[in-house]
Amino acid sequence: MLRYKKIFINNHCNNHCLHCSYQKKGLLQPSIESIISKVIPEDHDGVEFYGGEPTLRDDLLPIIQTAKSNGFRRIKLITNGRLFSNIHFLQNIINSGCNIFEIKLWGSNSQLHDGITQTYGSFIETLRGLDNLVRFSEERFICIRIPICKQNYSDLENTVAMVLGFEINRIVLSFTDYNLSIKKAMFHIRNAINISIFNRVWILTEGLPFCVMNGLEPHIIEIYTGWNNIENRVFQKHKNCGECIFKEFCPGIEKDYLNRFGEDEFLPIKENKYFSDIKMVYE
Ligand code: SF4
Repeated sequence: MLRYKKIFINNHCNNHCLHCSYQKKGLLQPSIESIISKVIPEDHDGVEFYGGEPTLRDDLLPIIQTAKSNGFRRIKLITNGRLFSNIHFLQNIINSGCNIFEIKLWGSNSQLHDGITQTYGSFIETLRGLDNLVRFSEERFICIRIPICKQNYSDLENTVAMVLGFEINRIVLSFTDYNLSIKKAMFHIRNAINISIFNRVWILTEGLPFCVMNGLEPHIIEIYTGWNNIENRVFQKHKNCGECIFKEFCPGIEKDYLNRFGEDEFLPIKENKYFSDIKMVYE
């Protein structure tokens, strides 16, 4: 399993995304001392810096350098990538030791993306950053994180097709908007997954249970990372889980989602061709 030590480093952001959970939580700005005190591997060999927008910190380079000198092999930034439109800035980040970049993208065009980030020009800057990033072919692993929400779910196929035009390594489709029905979004999620598979780019889902995947179960990211990769999710089993072969690996459905939509769309899985392979990952 790939386990990252997750460290929150910035409560500021240059986007104002409609679905930003950090704005809602009102987290305090951590000091450099408190961050450095956490940048210790313990039982992790990867570290993930997130915000807000981590690249807006003036002291980001020493933070990454500390992670490197303390022995982390995988150093990841979760970012909107806008500041990477300045290639010198990006070069410094790479030189300091960051080797994994997860870029958040909300849509395939500026109208949709900027509408959700509520920041005019953010789409074009993120794409410029991505374009710069792919130039550093040796030193980086690029993941595109597409949060799925009410505003963008019908554009997922276009967004995936668009990012496949860049030399990226992985895509994550993250379901975190509990006002959107999974049933409604699943048609587009499946299409987006198949487009990426067809183009031989690794694609994973986040926030979706086994019982909606219908043959795409190995694409669930939580199989490889654990179910705590999104903070503050509260899972709940429902009346159908008892009969499901995945019940020992699956924590159920997000509580807020169940309260809103109920459990009728989550039918128990009685058999599945990937079950024994997935079970092996947990053993
Ligand atoms: S039926 Fe329950 S245990 Fe089975 S995959 Fe769905 S949520 Fe998980």
